Amino acid sequence: MTQKLSVSDLLDIAPLTIDDIHKILDRAKFFKGALADRNVPQTLKQKIIMTVFVENSTRTRTSFETAVLRLGGRLINWDEKISSAQKGESFSDTLNYLNGYAPDALIVRHFEYNAPHFVAGIMDCPVINAGDSWREHPSQALLDAFTIQEFKGGIAGMRVAIVGDLAHSRVANSNVALLTKLGAQVHLIAPQNLQPRSVSDNVRVFDRLEDGLTDCDVVMPLRIQKERMDSAVIPNDTAYFHAFGLTRERLKLAKNDAIVMHPGPMNRGIEIADEVADDPHQSAIFAQGANGVPVRMAILDLLAGNHHV
Ligand code: ASP
Repeated sequence: MTQKLSVSDLLDIAPLTIDDIHKILDRAKFFKGALADRNVPQTLKQKIIMTVFVENSTRTRTSFETAVLRLGGRLINWDEKISSAQKGESFSDTLNYLNGYAPDALIVRHFEYNAPHFVAGIMDCPVINAGDSWREHPSQALLDAFTIQEFKGGIAGMRVAIVGDLAHSRVANSNVALLTKLGAQVHLIAPQNLQPRSVSDNVRVFDRLEDGLTDCDVVMPLRIQKERMDSAVIPNDTAYFHAFGLTRERLKLAKNDAIVMHPGPMNRGIEIADEVADDPHQSAIFAQGANGVPVRMAILDLLAGNHHV
């Protein structure tokens, strides 16, 4: 019997207790095994899960949808482009109507800062943040932690380098919050104009890739979030690749057995070289992506599941 979490929504990392995090990671491990054995408990049977995506997504959306279907739930996708938002309906009116249909959980992605909190204030069901603005992407951080644990055997004491657009990255924010909570050391590496404004304990900031990669167990380059910045911040992709692109040569500065992760979408030739992205020994990128399903199954199950086996 798996117990529920101490929170009723997943909006950000901070409110999760260490116990909550371990429950999610353990449950994800269980579901990964159940998927391999094709014997998944149908804990979302009879449940209706709504998705409200007000920003593009590939991995997050499809892995959440796969997770719902694998658990026997049913999905309703609210699609902004064919919705009454196009006729001038306010987002809060839309949500009040959706709440009236009494879904069992709602998964939201939004370009506006803190939008999932606004949604949770209206909905009676659990709300799961699938990424908002540059603020938080908690399910991504959980699947990243799950992947580190799987490949490295644990998270405490690991040195994790996150490289690139830290100023606009919700992935970096959620990862820093989660990894430091679990006892990892984080190296944030970025050109000065993309560095975070403040950092917590166990986090060091570097402006040269060569300095920040030393002795790292995990290296995670990030996409430059051009949609969230002034075009002048990164004038030239080639110059960025020369200074911050993760090449095989640079990866040698990390530990010999370091793994490379990336939340996707990858911009090959900008933050990561093909030879690194496709390296059969050191790249964990596609395995990380695949872990999105069991981890999101765990989140849905713990917040909205019928029962636990
Ligand atoms: N897929 C991640 C996100 O939704 C990373 C990215 O878009 O670069 O934030």
